[in-house]
Amino acid sequence: MKLLSVVVPCYNEEEMLEGFYRETVPVLEGCGWDYELIFVNDGSTDATPAVQKRLAGENSRVKIVGFSRNFGHEAAMIAGIDHARGDGVICMDADLQHPPACIPEIVERFEQGYDVVTMVRRSNEGQRLWRRAASKGFYRLLNALSPVRFQENASDFFGISRRSAEILRTQYRERVRYLRGFVQSLGYRCCAIEYRAGRRASGESHYSLPRLVHFSVTTLCGFSDVPLKLGIYAGLLAGGLGVILMVYSIVKRLFFNDTVDGYTTIVVALCFLFALTLLVIGIIGEYVSVLMQELKGRPIYLVEELVNFDRRDGEE
Ligand code: UDP
Ligand code: MG
Repeated sequence: MKLLSVVVPCYNEEEMLEGFYRETVPVLEGCGWDYELIFVNDGSTDATPAVQKRLAGENSRVKIVGFSRNFGHEAAMIAGIDHARGDGVICMDADLQHPPACIPEIVERFEQGYDVVTMVRRSNEGQRLWRRAASKGFYRLLNALSPVRFQENASDFFGISRRSAEILRTQYRERVRYLRGFVQSLGYRCCAIEYRAGRRASGESHYSLPRLVHFSVTTLCGFSDVPLKLGIYAGLLAGGLGVILMVYSIVKRLFFNDTVDGYTTIVVALCFLFALTLLVIGIIGEYVSVLMQELKGRPIYLVEELVNFDRRDGEE
């Protein structure tokens, strides 16, 4: 029998967790695969760990990964994936915004051989208009600036096959991360399922506006080096304009002699120095971009299949 791992990051979810468990377990029991339900306790300060332990005592398929302090949602998902042993791994939130009723559909896709099942929010009831607009704008920008194609409205609700999980475990170990982005950049056989995101059943969302802005900026910088390269573009532009201004000033001085004394020298020197400075910043930007790529150590390629490589040529 195949094993399904369900990873659930929990941070101060004492009110929600029991309800989540009661709703999810019957779905898991009916999905046709054996299952493990991995609760990650991301340094909760309320009774979340106690609730988790009670559920684990009641059901040995419930497993707990407890953090020493709060490390954030993404870290919790990664820890869950690291500890999952399943043939398929599903990440979902504890607040029932990711409907457990979708699980059998994801399992069906795993059965069909899909490696990445992205869950796409159809509507975000309870999400304010500005948040929806900001999210759309963000995906537009990210897609324009990055070589990876990101699914708009992808959520932290997704399913990945064993081999995808293994790649995340071994080859995507960056400190600054965007797990959803990594999942989207794997390739392999991907599909998307639409779902209706519910309202947060109780408690408060843990993502505030400043946190979302910070998240967007680090994501853009993590998947695109266009911002870094702005220096070199600005340098080239300013340099080009400077050369035109320089020639113009020199011609004016030599042939028409109608400029104030010293003007030409100042303009020429200014243009030259500014262009030089911006170019140097741009060149440093290029080096930083190379450094970042090396530091991130992302896989250079991912092989899907090899043909005839097991033949032992020259032996027979
Ligand atoms: N979460 C977490 N660590 C955090 C913040 C949130 O593990 O520092 C968990 C939280 O318990 C929930 C999920 O991540 O299961 C999503 O959090 P939330 O519902 O607050 O985010 P939103 O749905 O508003 O994006
Ligand atoms: Mg939520």
